[in-house]
Amino acid sequence: MTKDQKRKLKLYDVYSQNLSWVKENPSLKFEPDFKEGYICPLCFNLFTKDTLNKTSSNPLTFDHNPPFSLGGKQGILTCRDCNSKAGYKIDNHLLLQLKEWNFFNNTPNSKIRVTLNNDGSRVAADMSVEEDGRVKINVDGENSSPIHRERFFANKTYTYKAYDPFLEGHDMFDAGINWKLNFNMDIHPKSNERYGEIALLKIAYLYAFQKFGHGFLINRNLYKIREQILNPEKPILPKVFWLKNDFPEKFTGLNIVNSPKELQCFLVIFNLFVNGVKKQFAIALPGLSYPGLEIYENIEAILCQNKEGSSHLNIEHLYNWDYVTQKKWRFASHSLWKNMVIK
Ligand SMILES: [Zn+2]
Repeated sequence: MTKDQKRKLKLYDVYSQNLSWVKENPSLKFEPDFKEGYICPLCFNLFTKDTLNKTSSNPLTFDHNPPFSLGGKQGILTCRDCNSKAGYKIDNHLLLQLKEWNFFNNTPNSKIRVTLNNDGSRVAADMSVEEDGRVKINVDGENSSPIHRERFFANKTYTYKAYDPFLEGHDMFDAGINWKLNFNMDIHPKSNERYGEIALLKIAYLYAFQKFGHGFLINRNLYKIREQILNPEKPILPKVFWLKNDFPEKFTGLNIVNSPKELQCFLVIFNLFVNGVKKQFAIALPGLSYPGLEIYENIEAILCQNKEGSSHLNIEHLYNWDYVTQKKWRFASHSLWKNMVIK
């Protein structure tokens, strides 16, 4: 068995045990019934152990959440269909977006691709922020048309400075021909901002599933979340689903916003890393009662119009306990919500 297969099997065993505990609840009906399995958190289909096998038509695949390229360490299983629908494409846009964000914030070692235009002659170039904060432009000659490249540099303007015999010292060495190159820079962000946002929603949703297990999925408000993740091109949740605050590091992980009432929700706070630079995100997921999906309308109405930001939020941090492996915590998200919100 390869290392990858072992990791998959281990994850499968933990979560399939967790599902069997959830299933014992008499008020839940699964049709058709099954003995053991794993529910793909994105499409809700049931997968049995034999689907870990790559030869299966839609096998369970191992992934990192957050994506490995963004510093993710924890593993998760999703089916291959979901993985290809909501995987690489949206994650890659998020990665690009963060790289661009780093560059525009003058972060050392960040880099973006630009087009330089000198009177109609265009060349491709990489712009990077050096260790000391200076910006370096590297013309990519190999990926620019040779004619354009030649014209680009031919469009120089010369200034001539004569040696002044009455001046002493270093000025005499400045004499000679100087050339000047004028150009415009076109910066086309390559990332699709919306896809990047959906990637954040996916990270938060899968994170909550990773921590709480299958019990978390029993929440009808999450249907729209899954639909949006699997259809990033559709405006299913067109409103803002993130909070723009700097939360103290101790809030990293799962939280419940319990007041004001209109903003009650699960709040997943996580860090992503690009080129060693950390950026924090806080994504709201609908809870089990009011305001449900209305949370997104309310974030926009209350937080985006309010200059105080989220300073008046009351947030309860949920301890990073091993909810998935403990039978008594199989409905942890339900009981925590009940205790902290519905009073
Ligand atoms: Zn799936």
